[in-house]
Amino acid sequence: MLRDLVIVGAGPVGATLALALRDADLDLVVLDSRAAGTPYRSDRSLALSHGARLILERLDVWPRLASTRGVVTPITSVDVSQARGFGMTRLVASDHDVPALGYVVSYRALQSALDAALARAGIGIQFGAAANKVGGTPAYVAVTLTDGNADPITARLAVIADGSGALVDGIRRERKDYGHVAVTAKVAINRPHGGRAFERFTDEGPMALLPEGEDYGVVWTMTPERAQETLALGDNAFLDALAARFGPRFEGFVGVSSRRSFPLALEIARPTIGTRAVVVGNAAQSLHPVAGQGFNLGMRDAFELAQTIITTPRDALGDGPMLATYAKRRLPDRVAGIAFTHGLVQLFGTSFPLMSWPRGFALTLLDSLPPAKRVFARAMLFGIHT
Ligand SMILES: Cc1cc2nc3c(=O)[nH]c(=O)nc-3n(C[C@H](O)[C@H](O)[C@H](O)COP(=O)(O)OP(=O)(O)OC[C@H]3O[C@@H](n4cnc5c(N)ncnc54)[C@H](O)[C@@H]3O)c2cc1C
Repeated sequence: MLRDLVIVGAGPVGATLALALRDADLDLVVLDSRAAGTPYRSDRSLALSHGARLILERLDVWPRLASTRGVVTPITSVDVSQARGFGMTRLVASDHDVPALGYVVSYRALQSALDAALARAGIGIQFGAAANKVGGTPAYVAVTLTDGNADPITARLAVIADGSGALVDGIRRERKDYGHVAVTAKVAINRPHGGRAFERFTDEGPMALLPEGEDYGVVWTMTPERAQETLALGDNAFLDALAARFGPRFEGFVGVSSRRSFPLALEIARPTIGTRAVVVGNAAQSLHPVAGQGFNLGMRDAFELAQTIITTPRDALGDGPMLATYAKRRLPDRVAGIAFTHGLVQLFGTSFPLMSWPRGFALTLLDSLPPAKRVFARAMLFGIHT
């Protein structure tokens, strides 16, 4: 049986794509390796841009998500600064006529809201279905499952949103290891945060405090050796080290929980399209979290792909020209998001002492030149291209 479309992976990006196609009258199958009713990943804090909010609004996911108490935390301002440098800039939502610069949402809360929206739309997910190979022919694409007893699923087009993109014939993944890891944790503070986020560039790499519920989510980059030591510290010693690193701009940490770490790398699929197959979201690009671009790029992948699919006649679905059109449409946004993130890591992530001057200068300029600041803020809000 030849389906129109198979989506491999119903994480935030695959689920967003499936939802955006709810009225498209397609024979669609959605697979996910996780067991029914369980979020795949350990929880993490996602920083959603204003643009991602607009996508979730159009899919009718946002109102329910935002009306659940404590699930969505608006970021009303971001202080960007650097250790041992003179620069500081503050981005404020009201300067840009938006209600918030972004929103912090837990991965699990977002995933459950998307799962519920798919169920309401009558789009079933085949849970417990792990794909292990995607191979295309000019006429169809076949997705083979790890369950050897299941028949391969054939379709006109396979969209791979599995977070790693390792399955597709003809698509390879390039990896640049940054040699750093991100230590993440939740920290409690002794006063209301008022929606204020902080991003700080230090000689060990960038770090961020994102308001989440009544607490802050910390993303703290460092060498793997330092991460091991930091994760092994007692709670008070961890908070002291964090306060020392954050410097005088921030005080009042009183508790810590959920400490974890993960390696930092830039991973890019090349190309993002194969024979009757396309990779989206983290499967297409997985970025350093410094600029909060990766997840939001993935949401735009999903939304743009849905628009391309909706406007393609069924018999052209998954053919070379359709996939080339999609890839061409996504290219400027992808390249800009990747270059912006990688550039920030290179510019602000180095420990070369003289770099402190241009860094501080850039930040100071950003604060004193409203148009430059607007470009930066706009990149944070909508991505570079849109
Ligand atoms: C360790 C880590 C920490 C991160 N921390 C942050 C953070 O702090 N802030 C932030 O903004 N972003 C963070 N990110 C990035 C963010 O999680 C991603 O941008 C986002 O999850 C991308 O969504 P996705 O749907 O593309 O992929 P995923 O969220 O990875 O979802 C993939 C889905 O595919 C399913 N799947 C996987 N393999 C198969 C298979 N073979 N067959 C079928 N289904 C499959 C999975 O069950 C899952 O549901 C982090 C990423 C990682 C890896």
